[in-house]
Amino acid sequence: MDSLILIAAALYGACIGSFLNVCIFRLPRRCLRLWRPKLSFCPRCRRSIPWYENLPIVAFLGLGGRCRGCKGKIPLRYFFVELATALFVFYLADRYLVATPSEAGPFSRQWGTFVSQAIFGCALLVCALVDADWKTIPDEIDVPGFLLAPLIAWIVVSVNPLPVPTEPAERAYPLLEWAPNLAALAHRGKLALESALPWWGLSGTGALTSPFRAVESSLAAGGALAAWEPQVCATFAAILGASVGGGLIFIIGKLGEWAFRMEAMGFGDVKLMAMIGGFTGWQGVLGSIVVASILGSVWGIVSKVKSGKTTVTGEDLAETSPLGYWALRLFGAPREAADNAQLKLRLGGSLAARLATGDPYLPFGPFLAIGAALVALWPGTLLWLYGQWADYLKRAWLG
Ligand SMILES: [Zn+2]
Repeated sequence: MDSLILIAAALYGACIGSFLNVCIFRLPRRCLRLWRPKLSFCPRCRRSIPWYENLPIVAFLGLGGRCRGCKGKIPLRYFFVELATALFVFYLADRYLVATPSEAGPFSRQWGTFVSQAIFGCALLVCALVDADWKTIPDEIDVPGFLLAPLIAWIVVSVNPLPVPTEPAERAYPLLEWAPNLAALAHRGKLALESALPWWGLSGTGALTSPFRAVESSLAAGGALAAWEPQVCATFAAILGASVGGGLIFIIGKLGEWAFRMEAMGFGDVKLMAMIGGFTGWQGVLGSIVVASILGSVWGIVSKVKSGKTTVTGEDLAETSPLGYWALRLFGAPREAADNAQLKLRLGGSLAARLATGDPYLPFGPFLAIGAALVALWPGTLLWLYGQWADYLKRAWLG
C-alpha cells in the first residue's frame, strides 16, 4: 500500500510538473491564456504537440530533447521542472503519508499538510522561475496565494485529527510549529490597550478592549473559541505572517531603493513575501529573508565580479551605487573625478572596480523562494542552525 502511494505521488508529481511548465511559459505572456490554446505548441515552429509527445519526463528522453517537427532544442529546464516536481511530491508523500505512524490508515493522518506543502512548493517554483526569466512575479500565483493561505491553514488543521504540536519538529505544519499562544496574546493586547487608551484621551471606553477580553476569557474558560483553538491559532498565524511578510519586504525595498539608487525590490516581491508569510508565519518570513540574503549576496557578488569592468572612470564613480562608491574609495579612488579620467586604484582595486561596475540587477524572488521552501520543509533544522550560531556568537564574544 505504501509503495503504491509513493508511485502514485511520483506520477502525479510529474504531471503537475508538466502543468507548472505550462504556467511558467504562459502566465507572463499576455497573449496566451492558461487553458487556450488547449494543446501545448512548439514555440519555434508553432506545431501543436500531441499528447504522447507531451508525457512528462519520458517524452523528453524519448525525443532526445528535440521537437519532432523542427528539430529545435527543447530547453533542458522543462525536463528538470518535471523531474524536480515528481521528486518533491514523492518526498512529501513519503514524509507525511507514509513515514508518519498512523492509527487509521495512511490518508487520515497528515494529508492536509501534504496537500498544503505541495501547493506552496509548486507556487514557489513557478514564481521563482518566472521572476528569473521576466523579472516579474505572476499575480495569478501570489495574490491567490496570500489570500487563500489563512483558509488553507484552517482546513489543514481541521483535517489533521491529531494535535500537531506533539510531533517531532520536522514533521509539523510550520504554522503550528510556531503557533502563537492566543490567550497570552489577547491578554497582552488587552493590557497594552488599557494602558494606552488614557494617553489618547479615551479612558473608560471598554468597547475597544472588549474583543481582546472576549478572546482571553473564551479560551481560558473553555468557551466556544477554545474548541477551535488550533484552527484559530493557525489562521491567525497565517494572517499575521502575510502582513509581516508583505510589510517587511516593502520597508526593505524602500531602504534598498535609497541604498542602491534603483528599484531594489518590486511590488511583486511584496506579494510573494505575503504569500510566504501566509504559509510559514512571521518566523518563516524572517527565516526566508535571512536565507535569501545570504544566497543572494553570494550570487550578486559573483555575478557583479563576472560582469564588471576592471578599470573605472570618473563617470563610473559618479554613477555607481553608494556601496560601489565606498568600495572604490577604499581602494584609493578620489572623492570625485572628471568624467573621462581613468582612476588609479590600489592593489586589489580591480575587484572593487568590478563590484562597482557589474550588472546591478539581482532577482530576489528566486532566492526568497528557496529560503521559503527550506523554512517550510525544515523549520526545526533552521531553528537549530540559528541556535548553534547564536551559541557560537555568545561563546566568542562573552566567553
Ligand atoms: Zn518545433
